[in-house]
Amino acid sequence: MREKVCHVPFLNSVGPRYDADMDPKCRCHQFAACAPHVHFLKERHLGLYERGKARSGLAAEELSLLKEAEQALLGDDASDVRRQDLACRIERWRYRILDEYRDTGPPQDRRLADALDIAANELVRRDARPPRWPRGAISDASRDRDRLARAARCLDREVPLEDLVRRAAQLTRRHFTAPGSNRRRILLYAPLYLSNYCLNHCVYCGFRQPRDVPRRHLDLDEAVGQAEILCRRGFRHILLVAGDDPRLTTPEYYAGLADALAERRVAPAVEIAPQSTASYAALAAAGVCGVTLYQETYNEGLYCLYHPCGSKRSFDWRLEGLERAAEAGMQRLGLGILLGLADPREDMAAMLRHAGYLRNRFPDCTLAFSLPRIHQAPEGFTPPYAVDDETFIRLYCVLRIAFPRAELVLSTREPAGLRNRLARICITQMSAGSSTAPGGYDTRNGPSSGEQFPVCDRRRPDEVAGCLDAAGLEVVWNVPDGSKRKSRHEP
Ligand code: SF4
Repeated sequence: MREKVCHVPFLNSVGPRYDADMDPKCRCHQFAACAPHVHFLKERHLGLYERGKARSGLAAEELSLLKEAEQALLGDDASDVRRQDLACRIERWRYRILDEYRDTGPPQDRRLADALDIAANELVRRDARPPRWPRGAISDASRDRDRLARAARCLDREVPLEDLVRRAAQLTRRHFTAPGSNRRRILLYAPLYLSNYCLNHCVYCGFRQPRDVPRRHLDLDEAVGQAEILCRRGFRHILLVAGDDPRLTTPEYYAGLADALAERRVAPAVEIAPQSTASYAALAAAGVCGVTLYQETYNEGLYCLYHPCGSKRSFDWRLEGLERAAEAGMQRLGLGILLGLADPREDMAAMLRHAGYLRNRFPDCTLAFSLPRIHQAPEGFTPPYAVDDETFIRLYCVLRIAFPRAELVLSTREPAGLRNRLARICITQMSAGSSTAPGGYDTRNGPSSGEQFPVCDRRRPDEVAGCLDAAGLEVVWNVPDGSKRKSRHEP
């Protein structure tokens, strides 16, 4: 077949591979001027019309969106706001396709998803890139084979733990010690829980629906008040955490808070529901320096079991969240698996592949890893893959050996003794004095209720800092420059 070239540039970049599937006769003339790739999109939509009336309303909308996108890309007169809006709608459409055809999708729907991805990217005038596809990376056993083989060996009990610990500690010292210093750095940060309203049903979480827990959402003033308490305790890096209820925790809410924190010279990062690329861009512009987004488990079957309904059920929307954040300009990308949900070896292998994929696509971003471990789950849920302390330490050592320059993060879910030990080995960022309930840092009205999970290490931040100092580490409270975007409040 003669190779046809589409004059819509983004569609050419997806390539002439569509040709093989195409019927040379077009039954729809709406896009007659635009050869083979738009033809492919149209054919798919005609199929939708034919498959039943229930879908036809949506398919008509999608056809109209295609036409608008085509006009914006071919002409040069669409405003940036208009192009941005079209890109957002195309992005949403793409995730609908990925969700709908997740397990059984015919191949052309993957290609449609790619075409839409490239279209959205082109509409907002970002640099050309191959379509997003971390799903392929996490399941490709040939990817990073050597690194993964080394990692698997480290989890083997025949490898003495102390050898592993020595290697991880050496690498951490080498990459996290400032020139001229004999102490390597460790950052202390605090989580700030903004809201425990959540529409999701994650079976392992204290905030899940339909659980009856005291719910609270902090308004902007209350959130800033909590941040000021943390500032008085010394923190300059705060992780904003919230449940997923988009009616309350909007991008504007987060951006307003990030702005207020930047004025107080606090660098915020977020651990919130996955956002669209446009929302991440708004957060980055407001001074948010990083996104933490745990996949929880990379085992898709178990993922669906643990997230039976709510927006978190969408595996791809979550899996690609860090990539959207990086494209939007976020500097620090935090990955994680929730230990207890699935086989930790398999999840670790998938997370390492995911991280390798992100590092290849965004070499300037800082990668961070965290391994939250379920100690106590809500009634009715027992984590099926309990992880003991030795495996826990080995997993962190694996991360250090696989990614020597990555930030390794540890929360107060773990007891003080284990945290001290891991801090000496490989941890570079650690929370301290945490509360996991919204408003939990103001104790004037007694202890707060509505925690996401119980805090195990209850030491004050200055006590934690004292222990780390005594262990020969340099405690820092500001995020390293490489992890921080320059906010517009900085000189
Ligand atoms: S894990 Fe997050 S999304 Fe799931 S119920 Fe808890 S707060 Fe909501």
